[in-house]
Amino acid sequence: MPVEKLPSRSENFSDWYNQLVISAELADYAPVRGCMVVRPYGWSLWENIQSALDRRFKATGHVNAAFPLLIPMSFLEKEKAHVEGFSPELAVVMIGGGEKLEEPLIVRPTSETIVGYMYAKWIKSYRDLPLLINQWGNVVRWELRTRLFLRTLEFYWQEGHTAHATEEEAHEETLRMLDVYADFAVNDAAVPVIPGRKSDSEKFMGAVDSFTIEAMMGDSRALQAGTSHFLGQNFAKAFDIQYLDPNNQLQLAWTTSWGLSTRFVGAIIMTHGDDRGLILPPKLAPIQVVIIPIFRDDLERAQVMPVVEKVKAELSELRIKVDDRTEVTPGFKFNDWELRGVPLRLEIGPKDVAKGTVAAARRDIPGREGKSILSQQGLSDQVGDLLEKIQVSLFEKALAFRKANTYEPQDYAEFQEVVKHGWAFSWWCKNPECEKKIKEETKASTRCIPFEQPAGEGKCIYCGQPAIEKVYFARAY
Ligand SMILES: [Zn+2]
Repeated sequence: MPVEKLPSRSENFSDWYNQLVISAELADYAPVRGCMVVRPYGWSLWENIQSALDRRFKATGHVNAAFPLLIPMSFLEKEKAHVEGFSPELAVVMIGGGEKLEEPLIVRPTSETIVGYMYAKWIKSYRDLPLLINQWGNVVRWELRTRLFLRTLEFYWQEGHTAHATEEEAHEETLRMLDVYADFAVNDAAVPVIPGRKSDSEKFMGAVDSFTIEAMMGDSRALQAGTSHFLGQNFAKAFDIQYLDPNNQLQLAWTTSWGLSTRFVGAIIMTHGDDRGLILPPKLAPIQVVIIPIFRDDLERAQVMPVVEKVKAELSELRIKVDDRTEVTPGFKFNDWELRGVPLRLEIGPKDVAKGTVAAARRDIPGREGKSILSQQGLSDQVGDLLEKIQVSLFEKALAFRKANTYEPQDYAEFQEVVKHGWAFSWWCKNPECEKKIKEETKASTRCIPFEQPAGEGKCIYCGQPAIEKVYFARAY
């Protein structure tokens, strides 16, 4: 029984993605259209993402709490832009316990409103600030065009909500958390990202400014991988989040919110995967090393298994799996673990037992080039080195891909060509009309206005008017 063959990634990226998520047992479609079931292997990857982020949130002074799934409908209506943005996507509860509710409840699409309500209750004085709370949870945004992890009706995420005494502090917090996301993406997920500001039309409904980390996927489309919002005093006004300053004067607080979701699992799949399946970055992989014993009969098995056990014990600091299934061949196992993206495979057969060696195969480099023979002596260091090399090389490969597929077109005709297969980095006059026309004519939207800007100024790629900022344009997920 061969491992099911995937569609070709280069020929049909979308089919490749959809089938890979199913075949690698990351997630499955739920009976309710738009919903997904995250399977244990996918959840384990998400748990590793969670712990990598949670560690960073706590190191920057945040604590976790849990807010309710149901929110009074009237809460959403308190912030105008917010309600306009979210109304079309709401799931509304009209009946509870068999009785029609006096006030409908919404299933949270995000929690700014309920958090704002509670913060107004909890914050009395400047001594209560800053208030830095994160929650891990799920939200519902009515969505029927399902793509597992990328676009689902219900998804899992974290949402940070903070309140501050001054505009400056809230602004710093917004950017600090964007940095946290970028650091996680680059160093743990090996996903290169461009941090920057969202245009007004792309920002979060209710925010003054939204910031994003944008990543290029393997088909050169963009994915918004995490966002951080400076909410100004919009929610503080809507919910009366006020505090007494040291002079006993009543002041409005400044708030932020920031989130990263299970979409990021999609980012990892689409950044690193290949025709054989997933390639998971070692720091987040549910299984970092798979050990495959090779034997033909019971005699060889009796020689090999004690060494396998010894190696497993030596590598106990790592996330290890020994695949000792007897009903499938080693060849099947190789394909199977390649499909699941395990970064490093170790094979141990009778010859290795005799020579004191272990055969290693890197998932990121197919064929002979990725293979090496390790000594059983000092194995843990050698394996650690290999995992580190895989982690770095995945990042470098993705970065080189992004660079090779990012263009600076000279005129709009060239712009229209390059955004069919890559990103354009172009001057934009900030007129939303130009942004809208570009999107209508090319399907490319403004992804972000990066913090790193070239010196000087130029002419808008669409209208030719003076422009002071360059923007990344791309087709996006
Ligand atoms: Zn323009």
